[in-house]
Amino acid sequence: MRFEFATAGRIIFGPGTIGEIGDLAADMGRRAFVVTGKTVERAAPLVGQLKAQGTAITPFSIPGEPTTDLVLAAVDAARRDACEFVIGMGGGSVLDAGKVVAALLTNGGDLMDYLEVIGGGQPLSRKPAVYIAIPTTAGTGAEVTRNAVLDSPRHRVKVSMRSPLMLPDLAVIDPELTYSIPPEITAVTGLDAFTQLLEAYVSVNATPLTDGICREGLQRAARSLKKAWMDGNNTGARRDMCLASLFGGLALANAKLGAVHGFAGPLGGMYDAPHGALCAALLPHVLEVNLKALQSRAPESPAINRYHEVARMITGNSTGRASEGINWIQELCSQLQVPGLAEYGIKEGDLSTIVAKSKDASSMKGNPILLTEPELLEVLQKAL
Ligand code: NAD
Repeated sequence: MRFEFATAGRIIFGPGTIGEIGDLAADMGRRAFVVTGKTVERAAPLVGQLKAQGTAITPFSIPGEPTTDLVLAAVDAARRDACEFVIGMGGGSVLDAGKVVAALLTNGGDLMDYLEVIGGGQPLSRKPAVYIAIPTTAGTGAEVTRNAVLDSPRHRVKVSMRSPLMLPDLAVIDPELTYSIPPEITAVTGLDAFTQLLEAYVSVNATPLTDGICREGLQRAARSLKKAWMDGNNTGARRDMCLASLFGGLALANAKLGAVHGFAGPLGGMYDAPHGALCAALLPHVLEVNLKALQSRAPESPAINRYHEVARMITGNSTGRASEGINWIQELCSQLQVPGLAEYGIKEGDLSTIVAKSKDASSMKGNPILLTEPELLEVLQKAL
């Protein structure tokens, strides 16, 4: 057995830890490029501390999932003001945009040189500028991953820029920042975290280290997602969901994902739908089709037992079987009012194009069994 595990340089977790950011950033440079979401006021505690200690700031808002053009505008602004380090405070969209800015501040060339699939996929040659990631959603775990997902509207696809050098230098995860997330965003971001943990646990690249992280994360997400959705001020549930998100990021960065994420990348580029919502709509159906495919084509696969284990972890029934786990997840999705794919304008007639665009996605290669095109189509039909 051989495996590697890499993560952010330092991880600080806990309620109120945003209050430590001034001290933590004190030696990182004279001017910070601060990436925020559409609600810029959410970053006020960060900005206040930086200003109080005399750190100059160039602010930049990323109002939705980041496009290549918007990120290039951010890079220009950071270069123009000679920013010395970067802080991203927001959801996965903001954290990913900050990662790209930090990388391109020190690495020359064009963004397209580095993008996978639609660009050159060139490796970074220099260490990015120092990057601090502060999540305000509990879903992507992007504060500890080595990729940034960007939307290229021209190509109608979402693609990654990826490098081990893009792992943030510091991740500060303060669950208090997530109390303001409305229920519908709590649901879809939380189901993204849950999906990442589950897909990494059954991935062909899972390792004993990611296994432990996934088990802990799955149990926390299973007991707390609905609670956080019902009451955003439930401190224990919000803490669990921030841990589940962090653990999902740790796991996905070191084991691959699966068919849910294989579909979510291409779908996110083709339709205006939030990433977490796509994952949530696909999850129960990918599980069902995967299990059926494993039982008929690979009955000896250890993944089948993993699905049974997941069922036990999430239902609390010590003799639970995989099908019970799938029913439990289906029930959770309907309680959290997760819409089907049709909600985003996806039609029956689009499905074969989606299969063609998704079948070679990198996450498909982590799926516990290589799904055939008819099986991929079946997933989409069920998820409509
Ligand atoms: P998001 O960052 O797009 O945010 C979703 C919404 O939540 C936005 O409207 C935002 O304004 C709002 N929001 C954020 N924090 C809030 C708060 N504290 N209170 C109230 N509202 C708040 O959503 P996300 O799911 O965190 O990130 C999605 C993006 O991350 C996608 O582009 C996806 O592809 C990418 N992603 C990246 C990785 C990775 O490893 N890099 C992994 C998974 C997903």
